[in-house]
Amino acid sequence: MYHQNPDLLLKIFPIFLIFIFLEAVLIIGWKKQKYPWRESFVSFLIAIGHHLSQIIPTTGLLVLAWNHRLFTISLDFWWSPILLFLLIEFTYYWFHRASHRIRWFWASHLVHHSPNSFNLSAAYRLGWTGGISGSAIFFMPLAWLGFPPTSIAIALFLNLLYQFWIHTELIPKLGFLEWFLNTPSHHRVHHASNREYIDRNYGGVLIVFDRLFGTFAEENPTNKTIYGLTHPIKSSNPFKIALGEWVHIFQDMISANSWQERFGYGFAPPDWKQKNRR
Ligand SMILES: [Zn+2]
Ligand SMILES: [Zn+2]
Repeated sequence: MYHQNPDLLLKIFPIFLIFIFLEAVLIIGWKKQKYPWRESFVSFLIAIGHHLSQIIPTTGLLVLAWNHRLFTISLDFWWSPILLFLLIEFTYYWFHRASHRIRWFWASHLVHHSPNSFNLSAAYRLGWTGGISGSAIFFMPLAWLGFPPTSIAIALFLNLLYQFWIHTELIPKLGFLEWFLNTPSHHRVHHASNREYIDRNYGGVLIVFDRLFGTFAEENPTNKTIYGLTHPIKSSNPFKIALGEWVHIFQDMISANSWQERFGYGFAPPDWKQKNRR
């Protein structure tokens, strides 16, 4: 649902590739570290799959809400784009938090968290099934309030575009910007599976809602960051990475003993399964 402007993303993509390549040169030449070429290539394939998945029209839910809207908010007023930005950030925060804590949405989002290294190439390793799982539901209230579905889609696209540069280990903490912006430092924490970092820093452009709702964690340089999933996916097959969790949900539901358990496997937090088995 992000790419109401898929052509725009395609036009920008070569610029992303240049930055991804520059980052690789710096990691190898300057940091004297290995660059995970294979993982980056898999991210590239998954990004193509994500782009193709946008063929499924997902603005239907937004249009439905818009057709029953309370007001019509014109973006011509000076305050309305600012209001839209703040509401998008607020909604994105809860959408992203739900994407981590409700397995139904996690099945699409874990794809983004599957790389075991952290670099720019991971930014567009995005799930293929967000349209099917109905993630547009989170943004329906904005259309119902009176923001046009196309404006919501463009605002989400810009939110996603912003997040490209925060997927790197090369940029250190950025002083006072760390207070209110989502920065590379904050997003490194988000992609880590260390116990004290997991399920933290859900913000898109702003980090203020994490500070407000108690999900903020500061990067601690003495704590070695472990990137990726708590149960890493061993395969490099894009289909297994993008669709595997749905298969697991289906298998768990079939093997469940009650409807309560079946519901838990689908909609409880992803770690509910382990807790349930204990
Ligand atoms: Zn996430
Ligand atoms: Zn990310």
